[in-house]
Amino acid sequence: MYEFLIVGSGLFGAVFAHQAKQQNKRCLVIEKRSHLGGNVYCEKVEGINVHKYGAHIFHTNNKEVWDFVNNLVPFNRYTNSPIANYHGKLYNLPFNMNTFYQMWGVTTPEAAKAKIEEQKAEAVAKMKAESVTEPRNLEEQGLCLVGKDIFEKLIKEYTEKQWGRTCNELPAFIIKRLPVRLVFDNNYFNDAYQGIPIGGYNKLIDALLRNIDCKTNTDFFNSEYRDWRKYAKQLVYTGPLDEYFDFRYGKLDWRTVSFKTRIEDTPNYQGNAVVNYTSHEVPYTRIIEHKHFEMFGSAVYDCQKTVISEEYSTEYTEGKEPYYPVNDEKNNRLAQKYRELADKEVNVIFGGRLAEYKYYDMAPVVEKVISMF
Ligand SMILES: Cc1cc2nc3c(=O)[nH]c(=O)nc-3n(C[C@H](O)[C@H](O)[C@H](O)COP(=O)(O)OP(=O)(O)OC[C@H]3O[C@@H](n4cnc5c(N)ncnc54)[C@H](O)[C@@H]3O)c2cc1C
Repeated sequence: MYEFLIVGSGLFGAVFAHQAKQQNKRCLVIEKRSHLGGNVYCEKVEGINVHKYGAHIFHTNNKEVWDFVNNLVPFNRYTNSPIANYHGKLYNLPFNMNTFYQMWGVTTPEAAKAKIEEQKAEAVAKMKAESVTEPRNLEEQGLCLVGKDIFEKLIKEYTEKQWGRTCNELPAFIIKRLPVRLVFDNNYFNDAYQGIPIGGYNKLIDALLRNIDCKTNTDFFNSEYRDWRKYAKQLVYTGPLDEYFDFRYGKLDWRTVSFKTRIEDTPNYQGNAVVNYTSHEVPYTRIIEHKHFEMFGSAVYDCQKTVISEEYSTEYTEGKEPYYPVNDEKNNRLAQKYRELADKEVNVIFGGRLAEYKYYDMAPVVEKVISMF
């Protein structure tokens, strides 16, 4: 008899199992995929850790979380500093003095600020002329927040590719703030700590699940574990919330991304882990070059090949990976109905992005599980 049967070996399930083990509670982890680790799993190709389910960068301000993961496996110094490619011209992200220099040739924060304010004022004046007081859609919102050049070159078409709709049709609330930095700082995250586990995320998962019973290729719903009370006192469920209740009220919607991954016969394809393609000219939104997460400086050239993934925003249909919850009114209401059912389940813990129908970065998942213990 186990204390916990844990459905899903993603970060939530793995941290839970690890913490339970520290308290001498026996766990069995079952995973329907052929490997452990959920979406942080990496596949080794040409000696490079390929982030199979999308690029994952660990970042946090929480020292306890950072120490927790670093005690399991040391993290490297990777700093996310994406580049945007708009019709072949490159810009640094997030929007900062480097971007403004590339955009307008301005060299001082004062000159950059003046340019942005001038373009914001133009957008507001245009709306006023049409007797519009509040932005009616994402396009107007973006123009009011950062002005024409930044919006049109770095946001508009990228957002349209992501959503499959024009910015005119998208609601303004999708973009609440668009921070601009008047300093030369390409570090995407504001957090105190960020990095990638040295040797890849599988090392982190291996460390979390060391000496814990795990079974892959085991789907909770199509295995003897459906009758979990025979095996454990408590269930930790990290699969989709609606599926647990057999889609009783209908299916929750998801957004997804598809990846075209290939090996390139060059040691260095784009010189950066993340390059966003912000025009409609190319159909994908980003290219990830995986080696740059873990290989720095001359080490990039020690490995003669490289692996890149083109990312495409695609509609979610049956069989695709459910990546991002759709936080519109219909889905929020539906998820709430399922949560009410979940609250009534006895000895069942629902956790993680699928079971809570909530987008979580990795660090908050770790933080949440640590706090549960
Ligand atoms: C494209 C993408 C990019 C991301 N990038 C970042 C990033 O850069 N930084 C960051 O901090 N976070 C990032 N995240 C978030 C990160 O992936 C999540 O925080 C993390 O994966 C959550 O872990 P989880 O255990 O809740 O879910 P998952 O990793 O999805 O694990 C759930 C597991 O349950 C298994 N499962 C489901 N149903 C069953 C069943 N019936 N039986 C058995 N097993 C089942 C699944 O196969 C899966 O392995 C990203 C997410 C996505 C989608």
